Amino acid sequence: MDELTRKGLRRIARELVPINDWRVHKRLNLYIDIGPHCNADCGFCVAKTRDQKHRIRNLSRMLESSAAIREYCYSVEFVGGEPLVYINNGLKELFEVFRANRKKIITTNGLRQPFLASLDFLGEFEHVNISRHAVDDAHNEQIFRTGKLLTLADIGALPPSLKQKIRMNTTCHADKGIHQWSSMWEFIQAFNDQGIHQFMFANLNKLPQGQYQEEMEAFTTAHRLDDGFFDDVEHNLCRQGYHKVREMTGFGYVVRILQNGSTSVVLKENDDTAIRDVLDSVYQHNRMVLDLILTPSGKVYTDWFLTNELPITPGPQQSGTAASIES
Ligand code: SF4
Repeated sequence: MDELTRKGLRRIARELVPINDWRVHKRLNLYIDIGPHCNADCGFCVAKTRDQKHRIRNLSRMLESSAAIREYCYSVEFVGGEPLVYINNGLKELFEVFRANRKKIITTNGLRQPFLASLDFLGEFEHVNISRHAVDDAHNEQIFRTGKLLTLADIGALPPSLKQKIRMNTTCHADKGIHQWSSMWEFIQAFNDQGIHQFMFANLNKLPQGQYQEEMEAFTTAHRLDDGFFDDVEHNLCRQGYHKVREMTGFGYVVRILQNGSTSVVLKENDDTAIRDVLDSVYQHNRMVLDLILTPSGKVYTDWFLTNELPITPGPQQSGTAASIES
């Protein structure tokens, strides 16, 4: 275990709060996996290979579970599938449950029509992540294997107050899209010119064997960029006037954050296996809650492998009384 990982784990351990005999992170994030449908068909999508039985939707149970756990959640992130597909079918209702929470985030592929027709609603989120894989609009749509996505010009024409909340999220991989410093730099500059100042570049996940479909495991192994790629990117960003403001280990990932004036670039490397193994051996992972995942079935899990279901007793939904996390 390197020093950064050791430091990250010490930080995580300091930030755990005991609730019954669980240890819950004080800035717990809830991911709401709102449903399986997506307008896109990315070759590297892990969402569509997740256990299908948890993806049959039960909206009323999702709402009930949300009311039960919301007081424990520091932040709430809507993911999918594509959340905007559900804009009139659960997304707004679920948002209402969490309206008072400190930080609401939505991660969308930028599905053009619901996005442009819902600017007021999107403005209620603290952060709007838009997944994008190339500067060129046609190339981006080719990678998502769908049309009807926001163009560069659409994003440039958004209200400034919304642009401040937008972060462009890019999965880098060695097939198409952004996999070289030159294409990454072109991407940053093009969106900077449109008034966007937050970026995140992530390498493909190292997937643990046996948890996903074989085809997906083979794709990610073959297309993942070399481990040293982000070291080169960091070096090049520093030559362009950026400086590293933070480097940290979280649960299953390592991030470094670089900044230049108002522009910040996050470089994220996932490793679902290594850190989980350490946590399992050191901290009895099945009683430790760093993130929660609310699935379309309405069940809540403490891990993305959906192996550790959190027992919750739903409270009355209307009054919003929170339930306890059972011991
Ligand atoms: S946009 Fe996201 S959920 Fe949809 S196919 Fe691509 S990776 Fe999967």
